[in-house]
Order: sequence, then C-alpha cells, then structure tokens
Amino acid sequence: MTAKTVTLCRGERIVAAVPEHCHGPGWSNSIVWVYIASQDGRLRTECLQPCEQTHEMQTLFDAGAAMCRALVDAVSHMNQWVTAGFHTENGEDMANTMANTIATWTLELNCECPGCGEDVDLLDHADFWHGRNLAVGESSTERSRDVEVVCPACGHEFAVDCRY
Ligand SMILES: [Zn+2]
Repeated sequence: MTAKTVTLCRGERIVAAVPEHCHGPGWSNSIVWVYIASQDGRLRTECLQPCEQTHEMQTLFDAGAAMCRALVDAVSHMNQWVTAGFHTENGEDMANTMANTIATWTLELNCECPGCGEDVDLLDHADFWHGRNLAVGESSTERSRDVEVVCPACGHEFAVDCRY
C-alpha cells in the first residue's frame, strides 16, 4: 500500500480530511476527501481511495466517518427547492421561511452629452440624486422636464427631458 502524496500549490493548505463510506447498488467504497483551501478562499478536493490512505487514516476511519455523518445531520438547513406553500408535518408554512431569490435593479439614465459628445449614464454623477425630486422611471412629467444634470465625464452642465 502506498499512501498518495497530495500536492499543494503556493498558498494552499489542507483544511479538512473527511472520511466517507459511500455505496450504491452493488458497490461500496471508503474514501477520504481532502479539502484544500487557497489563499483567496477557493476550495478544491482530492479523493483518496482506500489503497491511497495512510495507516492513521484507516485506523481513524470508522470513528471519523461516524462523527462526520453525525455532524452533517446536525447542520440546521432547509431545502430551497421545496415548492412555495409546502406545509411541514407540524403545519408550518414553509413559504414564509424560504429564502427568496434576490432580484437586482439595474438603473441607468443615458444620454449623449452636448459638451463632450460622450454617451454617458447621468446616474454616474455622484450628486445626481442630491436634492432632487424625481422618481425612478419618471417620464414626461413636469418634474422630469428641464432636469438640470451634470455630465459625469466632462462636468458640463445642461438640461434634459427624461423618458422611460
Ligand atoms: Zn460631457
């Protein structure tokens, strides 16, 4: 038996070695997952087959696998793919506790600056909203006409009519 040598790149370190009994129809295996973290927080794994494990791993395997299994079971979690309105056995409405998908607004107010000719997003100017009485998406209203703006590229001051 030859223990496999795990190669680490610069800045990487081994953060966990997790023994796992896995099995399916007609097969079973006892592997050790080695979790390797890089300095920027990425994780990769290497799989050690039984013949690649050290004597210490095999001695600790059963106890370690049982402890990992128990710890996995102890992680409080919920499955996000449970459909909305699903009721648990004790009648709780799962829909209220599910984490929703985050939707991100993207907002731009684009025009061509008459000063420098650049296509600019007027919202890029840090003070655009400062003291301004204008709703997002407001169009063809008194407030969205003759709006004084500053070009974020060249600082030119001019007036625009906002359209959605
Ligand atoms: Zn400009």
